[in-house]
Amino acid sequence: MERGLLLCGAAGPSFFVPTLERMHDDLPPDLPRLEAIETYLVLSLERVRAKKKAVLLREEERQRGERARPPAPDWLIEYGLNRDAMPVAVHLGDCHIAAKSSRVKGVDSDTVRRAIAGGVEACIHCRPDAELGYLEG
Ligand SMILES: [Zn+2]
Repeated sequence: MERGLLLCGAAGPSFFVPTLERMHDDLPPDLPRLEAIETYLVLSLERVRAKKKAVLLREEERQRGERARPPAPDWLIEYGLNRDAMPVAVHLGDCHIAAKSSRVKGVDSDTVRRAIAGGVEACIHCRPDAELGYLEG
């Protein structure tokens, strides 16, 4: 007779829950095959642990880099393409347009005010002029 727990419902036996002993019946009965399976499982566990360690190290490195990164500037000036290029636009520090340019430099709000007063265009996407209190028009 099979060992296990037979669960019965109103309509009769519904399913068979195997005991712990029965669940291990799928293993081979002989030592060489059990040892081969054991070796495979040990190697698999070592690979999983090595990968887990690498993932943890990468995550720690990413977090360390994030903490070491200086805060984003509040204001940006974008320069033109030429070597001695003049400023072409001012942006808020988190502007998605400025983020696409490698020709931006973090500056303070006074520099941005002077640039706008000097005719440098305020980005129409992030509106640094509105942030500084300049009226539209
Ligand atoms: Zn912008």
